[in-house]
Amino acid sequence: MFSSIRQFISMGFLAAACGLSASAQQRTILAIGAHAADMDLTAGAILAHQKKLGDRVVILHMTLGEAGNPNMPPAQYAEQKRREAIASGEALGAEVIIGPYADAMLPNDEEARKYVADIIRQVKPTYVITHWKNSFHKDHRNTHAIVVDAVLMAELEAVKTAHPPYRGLKGVFYADNWEDSEDFKPYIFVDVSDVFDQWKQAIRSYQMVRGGVSPFDYFDYYTAHLKEEGALVGKKYAVSLDVDESSKRRILDSLR
Ligand SMILES: [Zn+2]
Repeated sequence: MFSSIRQFISMGFLAAACGLSASAQQRTILAIGAHAADMDLTAGAILAHQKKLGDRVVILHMTLGEAGNPNMPPAQYAEQKRREAIASGEALGAEVIIGPYADAMLPNDEEARKYVADIIRQVKPTYVITHWKNSFHKDHRNTHAIVVDAVLMAELEAVKTAHPPYRGLKGVFYADNWEDSEDFKPYIFVDVSDVFDQWKQAIRSYQMVRGGVSPFDYFDYYTAHLKEEGALVGKKYAVSLDVDESSKRRILDSLR
């Protein structure tokens, strides 16, 4: 049943996806990441861009990503990450929701799917952005699996949560995350040149981006990557997204 519903979502997807570059009516974009900072880094510039166009943008962090600081106990770092996530969200113009799960312990189960389905029913997104299916991080893989099922569960009368079913979602995009790069193919490029400086400031809300937490240089990688993606498509800065293979299907009456 899910695959047929997914195909249904896919049918109008390409035309709908063009809406990401033009402002006709207000859309709601819900970005769902495994750890606080994942979506800020990979989709934050798109969120800031869409906000500027008049859209509502929301980030759900499934966990705070509090386990990754070698210099601070997780409980203490969690409070810091919570403040950083809120500050980054404010700088992007995004509402921030923080899930109830623990870093490295995100369960790939029905309860997590119902949690996300209920968030989708409350937020009523036009588009969802989340992790690509392949990742070397377990929480990222689980977030992908949870979200793609939750998108469909949110539509179903049979799935009971605190809020009624929601059927307005037009498509799911996958973010370009250095940890999720296996088989990720940039498919849609969004010109984010107008918000690049704003996004750079926002992600620096996180200590892990400013430096001193991880040996990976998030700031250099993502700022250079947006420049590289922009150069590929003739823009100053761009963010790429992938979609499901079935969403790449185009049906024409004839070649024109
Ligand atoms: Zn992460």
